[in-house]
Amino acid sequence: MNNQYLMNTYARFDVIFEKGRGSKLYDTKGREYIDFVAGVAVNCLGHNHPVIVNALAEQSKMLMHVSNLYWNVPQLELAEMLGTHSRHDKVFFCNSGTEAVESAVKLARKYGKSKEEGKYELLYMENSFHGRTMGALAVTGQEKYQTSFMPLMEGVKMVKFNNAEDLTQKMNAGVCGVIIEPIQGEGGILPASKEFLETARKLCDQYDALLIYDEVQCGIGRTGKLFAYEIYGIVPDILCIAKGLGGGFPIGAMMAVKKAADAFVPGDHGCTFGGNPLGCAVSLAVLKELICGGIIEKVEGKSRYIIEKLDELKKEYKNIKGIQGMGLMLGIRLESDSKVFVEKCFERGLLTVGAGKNVVRLVPPLNVTEDEIDAAMVIIREVFEETKA
Ligand code: PLP
Repeated sequence: MNNQYLMNTYARFDVIFEKGRGSKLYDTKGREYIDFVAGVAVNCLGHNHPVIVNALAEQSKMLMHVSNLYWNVPQLELAEMLGTHSRHDKVFFCNSGTEAVESAVKLARKYGKSKEEGKYELLYMENSFHGRTMGALAVTGQEKYQTSFMPLMEGVKMVKFNNAEDLTQKMNAGVCGVIIEPIQGEGGILPASKEFLETARKLCDQYDALLIYDEVQCGIGRTGKLFAYEIYGIVPDILCIAKGLGGGFPIGAMMAVKKAADAFVPGDHGCTFGGNPLGCAVSLAVLKELICGGIIEKVEGKSRYIIEKLDELKKEYKNIKGIQGMGLMLGIRLESDSKVFVEKCFERGLLTVGAGKNVVRLVPPLNVTEDEIDAAMVIIREVFEETKA
């Protein structure tokens, strides 16, 4: 299907979605799908969750947008909520993941500049993905996203992911920041090793550079903790979040410890819609439900349940090379390309999404039920059966 009015920026499936409920989506023909994509790790509470619908309705009756020339109540409350549940002192609000990364890149540059002239280099990881705007693109470690848009921002250097030796070699006094996804998402659901993050933390401290985690995909409960850094116990100076933060409403945030955050002064950075009352009210409701509704604490159990089932399949089907990831951010590594597999799941009414070349990514809503997991697994088994050599 093609559309005469929409730009050709996505390879889309031939389906038009109309409504959703929990972990189910319905297309315009009334066909039901089990949603293990969840807007690519966005709809953490599933579709049309009453908490989100209610927060939207109530806040829209009060105040939808007001400029950041002034304070607003939900922004203040969300900032406090994030501050008290993280190890970070201050937050900057924006609308998307790439903007959160963009803000982090600028903050690291400003921090470096405040220390000494020439301290502006950013180290980033091979195979990473940080977004599509020019700053985020420059620190994305996959050429396929970059080639058509050269020249990119200067003062960046790529490091081999999970290679402490390479990072140590490339670190120097001119580095202002090191950006890492604790679990690489688009790159193929690949967790960073604890040793690698420990080395990054140590080197950043030694050279007074800022350690930046991009938790846009792996944050907000996906790993079974509110933030992925809690799993590792290695805290970054800057934390980028988005996707699940609004449970479907566009909102992103860049959080920082005080010494980093203090580098920004009025005029350095801004975002017209960032921290708008509507987005913040929804995000506040989402976080309360995730934390107080006991949803995050059940992620680990659901994860184990899925992994057990996938491990059984792995014994039967030699196309499965490995199961990777954490919590409800899981990948089935195939011997074959993931594209055909994802398409066959789709035909049977299960939405999955590829990551890297040969990984099938499973990122269902965090409140997905055991019955829904079982139904998804039946389809996954059918597809392995159909495609077995
Ligand atoms: N960072 C990571 C780790 C992501 O996975 C993504 C999107 O997939 C982004 C940044 C960009 O987020 P957005 O598409 O909201 O700009």
